[in-house]
Amino acid sequence: MDTRSCGFNTKLVHAGIPDDAHGSVVTPIYQTSTFAFRDAQQGANRFAGTEGGYIYTRIGNPTTVALEENVAQLENGFGATAMASGMGAVSTVYLALLSAGDHIVSTDSVYGPSRGLMEKHMSRFGVASSYVDTSDLANLRAAMRPNTKLVYIETPSNPAMSVTDIAAAAEIAHAAGALLVVDNTFASPHLQKPLDLGADLVLHSVTKFINGHADVVGGIVVSKTEALHKQIRAMLINLGANMDPHQAYLVSRGLKTLALRVERAEQSARLVAPWLEARPEVAWVRYIGLPSHPQHALAGRQMTGYGSMIAFELKGGTEAGRIVMDSVKLAGLAVSLGGVETLISHPASMTHAGMARENRLAAGITDGLVRLSIGIEDVEDILADLDQALRRTVGA
Ligand SMILES: *Cc1c(COP(=O)(O)O)cnc(C)c1O
Repeated sequence: MDTRSCGFNTKLVHAGIPDDAHGSVVTPIYQTSTFAFRDAQQGANRFAGTEGGYIYTRIGNPTTVALEENVAQLENGFGATAMASGMGAVSTVYLALLSAGDHIVSTDSVYGPSRGLMEKHMSRFGVASSYVDTSDLANLRAAMRPNTKLVYIETPSNPAMSVTDIAAAAEIAHAAGALLVVDNTFASPHLQKPLDLGADLVLHSVTKFINGHADVVGGIVVSKTEALHKQIRAMLINLGANMDPHQAYLVSRGLKTLALRVERAEQSARLVAPWLEARPEVAWVRYIGLPSHPQHALAGRQMTGYGSMIAFELKGGTEAGRIVMDSVKLAGLAVSLGGVETLISHPASMTHAGMARENRLAAGITDGLVRLSIGIEDVEDILADLDQALRRTVGA
């Protein structure tokens, strides 16, 4: 069925499912490393002939292609390429599009390893980088150089939840002859479609909202044009960070309920965020759905919802953070996000513990910062859990 003119929810359920010889309703798992060279009609061996067929799973596999076709349609792109992890997607984009002597401008609060890979490794191959607060476009404009080939933004970004104007960033990038890449992991294609706003490539850690069940690590890149899609695919085939068919099957299964999950979690987040803002133990709350968020209006313009990621600062700093982390019972104390279960983390002692305190503070990761990924549980239970944990921080 051609789903390209269908609505988002119909695409989620039906896009990309290949015609299968037995009429399977869901995409079968083609758990094979290699494919026989056959004549499509007669099924006999065919010397040198695969004509658009599959050859080898690193190059392409029908289960993985089904997921790629689905996400390409969700993001309104020409094509998609799935990777073993979100960082597999990031590394493929860097290696496919950057050469020695090139420069990249990126969001300062971008996912840590996306910056680490650039600063520690791509730099060894002669690629220069600048990290600026891209939520202020003046910083982005000032950082552009004649050799800037890529503007790579993450919006909303982690954990500060800062929002960058995608259409304006695309204009700045294109005026300088550069491409715009958007890490759309936090929004998911349900809430934000960067290609429609002018971006050239979109990438996801599908580990988060797209799979949504905290049981798979994976990544995907969606390209706006055929030329970019071919470039990404060609790099991945050589790099070998391809997604496995079983992984792709699980992600396709999780993806079907993306809209239901995202909407349900947002409903709860819209209650939890103002509730936290009113708590005496909490200094401030960063949720893009709150009018107090500095880019609330921009998020309202370029997104179709505010999502379920909340950051807040505890008045009691690191010690209060320790108490809350040790006291929550429903919320899982874990990194990652975007799953059906509510997760809580304390970046200063967990994801960013290796950073010097002054660098952490410069990146907005304060001592009492807590990050919440709201799940699809009953909101009353989420609030009760946070309530009992927050109470323990008073007078501690
Ligand atoms: C998790 C994450 C990544 C990396 O993805 P992995 O699947 O863990 O490799 C990249 N970008 C963002 C915004 C993420 O949250």
